[in-house]
Amino acid sequence: MLRRLFSNVTYTCDHCGTRRRIPLRRIHFFERFHGLTQGQVVLIACPACGEGLQIPTPYRTHTGHDTRFDPQDPDNAVIHAD
Ligand SMILES: [Zn+2]
Repeated sequence: MLRRLFSNVTYTCDHCGTRRRIPLRRIHFFERFHGLTQGQVVLIACPACGEGLQIPTPYRTHTGHDTRFDPQDPDNAVIHAD
């Protein structure tokens, strides 16, 4: 429980390669902010290069979905401008 609460997700930009770790609870905040309840993946518009998207490692959403970004299924992702 604590491990999940404090776990991080690693995001990597598909354009400039910037990597950063984001607390899962913060991603859950983004999910709620965007009203995501179907296990959609949160992508982040890269603030470092302004062109790429930061793609996450697999994680569990606040609604309990195990999710990972699938380039073949872009409708299952939402871009968050950080
Ligand atoms: Zn970037």
